[in-house]
Amino acid sequence: MPPKLTSLKPRITTQPGSKVQILAPAAGTVQRKRGYAGVIDRNRIRARDMGLCQECVRQGAPGPGWLVDHIVALWEGGSDEDENKQTLCKRHHDAKSAAEAARRASGG
Ligand SMILES: [Zn+2]
Repeated sequence: MPPKLTSLKPRITTQPGSKVQILAPAAGTVQRKRGYAGVIDRNRIRARDMGLCQECVRQGAPGPGWLVDHIVALWEGGSDEDENKQTLCKRHHDAKSAAEAARRASGG
């Protein structure tokens, strides 16, 4: 007679709640659209800006852009509407993001 198979008690359990801290939006700020609604929005902004980095355009050297940026960051009170969005190349997006991160790290 073959040995009877038994199942082991699971040793891994799930913890209640999340360990990931979610920063609450500051008063007066709006949250960005997420998921597919955000994809549609970004595609509309890219089309409006004709796929050009708007900072490169301002500097007189138009070049392609792909990243859609909030002109005034949401955490600085900017809106999530089209008027507050622009297409940027990676170089200009990274530079703008770094400047915003430095302001945010120093308390805004
Ligand atoms: Zn650029």
